[in-house]
Amino acid sequence: MRIPPLPDMINPWQMVAESGRLEGELPLAAMSRLAELNRAKGAVSVSLTAGVDERGVRFIKGALRTDVELVCQRCLGPLRLPLDVTVGLGLIQAGADARHLPGEYEPLLVPEDGVAVADLVEDELLLALPQIPRHEDRRECEANGYVAPGAAAARHIERRQPFAGLASLLRDSKRSN
Ligand SMILES: [Zn+2]
Repeated sequence: MRIPPLPDMINPWQMVAESGRLEGELPLAAMSRLAELNRAKGAVSVSLTAGVDERGVRFIKGALRTDVELVCQRCLGPLRLPLDVTVGLGLIQAGADARHLPGEYEPLLVPEDGVAVADLVEDELLLALPQIPRHEDRRECEANGYVAPGAAAARHIERRQPFAGLASLLRDSKRSN
């Protein structure tokens, strides 16, 4: 089945009024801020719905799925990361107060001229990225040539220890003389 392209822009208020859906794929390359961190090609699968909840909050909810490739900050090797992002946005009119939004929603400030789908998706993906991307298993970093500072320090102590022992032996022998 061919996936229809996503629109470039949406009017979130209209999407809410129509209980609309956004389904499709967006190339990762379309997101320039993310491209500075991510080396993976590929696409984000977008599945969002709009509506009004029982408290009258106009929302856009759904999920984004993709795989990104970041740089591990421990070993500087490639770090592939699946991203499975749950989206829960509460629509806020320009100038309105976002503090009344129930806690499970992030505010989405809607400008007059609508929202670029790529910006919306990119913001959500950037928020989902780890602050300091690192391989979860340190052995993956070691496979990329990383030596843990702890391990290096331990070897250092081992090397120094005989001399430290010798020094104290010398002191003891001087004292006994
Ligand atoms: Zn690493």
